Amino acid sequence: MTPQVDILVVGAGAVGATAALALRGAGYSVQVLDAGQPAPPAESADIDARVFALSPASIAWLETLRLWDVLAHRTQDYGGMRVWDAVSGSDIAFDAAALGLPRLGAIVENRAIVAAAQAALGDVEFGRSLVALDESVDAVCLHCADGDSLTARYVLLADGARSPGRAALGIQAPGRDYGGRAVVCHVQTASGHDQTAWQRFLPEGPVALLPLWDGRVSVVWSSTHAGADALLAMDDQAFSEALTDATAGQLGRLDTPTARHAFPLLRQTAERFTTGRCILLGDAAHVVHPLAGQGVNLGFDDARALLEAMPDPTRGLKPLARRRYERARRAEIARMSLGIDALDRLFSTAHPALAAARGLGLHAVDVLDPLKRQFAEAALGIR
Ligand SMILES: Cc1cc2nc3c(=O)[nH]c(=O)nc-3n(C[C@H](O)[C@H](O)[C@H](O)COP(=O)(O)OP(=O)(O)OC[C@H]3O[C@@H](n4cnc5c(N)ncnc54)[C@H](O)[C@@H]3O)c2cc1C
Repeated sequence: MTPQVDILVVGAGAVGATAALALRGAGYSVQVLDAGQPAPPAESADIDARVFALSPASIAWLETLRLWDVLAHRTQDYGGMRVWDAVSGSDIAFDAAALGLPRLGAIVENRAIVAAAQAALGDVEFGRSLVALDESVDAVCLHCADGDSLTARYVLLADGARSPGRAALGIQAPGRDYGGRAVVCHVQTASGHDQTAWQRFLPEGPVALLPLWDGRVSVVWSSTHAGADALLAMDDQAFSEALTDATAGQLGRLDTPTARHAFPLLRQTAERFTTGRCILLGDAAHVVHPLAGQGVNLGFDDARALLEAMPDPTRGLKPLARRRYERARRAEIARMSLGIDALDRLFSTAHPALAAARGLGLHAVDVLDPLKRQFAEAALGIR
């Protein structure tokens, strides 16, 4: 089988499209397919319901790809983060200035990143779905739903959490169903957002308020299935009241919610991130609970690590570099997934002894500067 291109990227979401740009920049010939349609320009609609809290490392990644300047007018830096516990009342606050940083991160729309990256690529083939893969020693043959077949030296699978590519390779992605969903929308606040990301842990799950560039906040409210059903069924006024109550009136009355959407709370990790010539990236490789807001940050980390493992087309991806990539990414994903699980378990109990212990723990981290710095670096993905 003679490969037609160096790399075929399946999936032009935030992770696949930026990985494709970076690899093209490194000199590879890259072809990109996506089953969907082009992302509409961000300006054409209201702020996307799916927004990300990007880490400084992810912002640097978008800067390297020259996408940040295109997006910057629709992003909101945040310099503060406050996490507090509804049961014990204890809290912890992070401040960029105290950590010697210009910002802790920025809130950015998924659609704005995807539209900018797809436009920079310029030649994404939309409406083309991968249905099967054949891997040989020197190439991969990818079969599309339209009957066409394409060959490449390597295939990058960035085709999302359900990843048809992963299924075609027979790779399982075991994990944990947290038994609930997160409800998302944007709301107006009575007292601004203070360029701060807010998260309050309730016994049914955390509710987060992320600052948006137009002064509103984006809500990510994790709950049980029954709780999410109830939040989705409420009229706007009842939802506004419930949200104001759940956030203890921290930003005053929250109202005028946009349409609410919900997504399942899952953790899953593919049993392998690579085969001889196929590499899984982003949600195709791993899905984490949104409470730490790290999903896309981990995907960008995958892409950056892959670029280091295969820096130019003459070398490609050598077996040793591939194994090193697999080991390093697996260790990072395990660390993040287990950390998030521990937080979820710790905060999802209203047991008085555990609530008191976590109150003491939060207080200890809050007052001990070196510990707090370590906690911030881990929680915010600051390198
Ligand atoms: C509401 C919400 C809030 C979130 N908040 C945060 C946050 O604050 N911070 C954070 O880091 N993460 C967050 N996440 C997680 C984040 O959205 C994902 O981690 C990230 O979008 C994954 O990007 P991706 O490119 O890997 O996959 P996707 O965005 O799912 O893209 C996959 C692409 O593959 C294409 N595709 C699928 N099947 C095929 C096929 N057979 N052939 C060809 N193409 C195919 C799809 O059309 C799609 O374009 C959030 C998620 C949700 C739902």
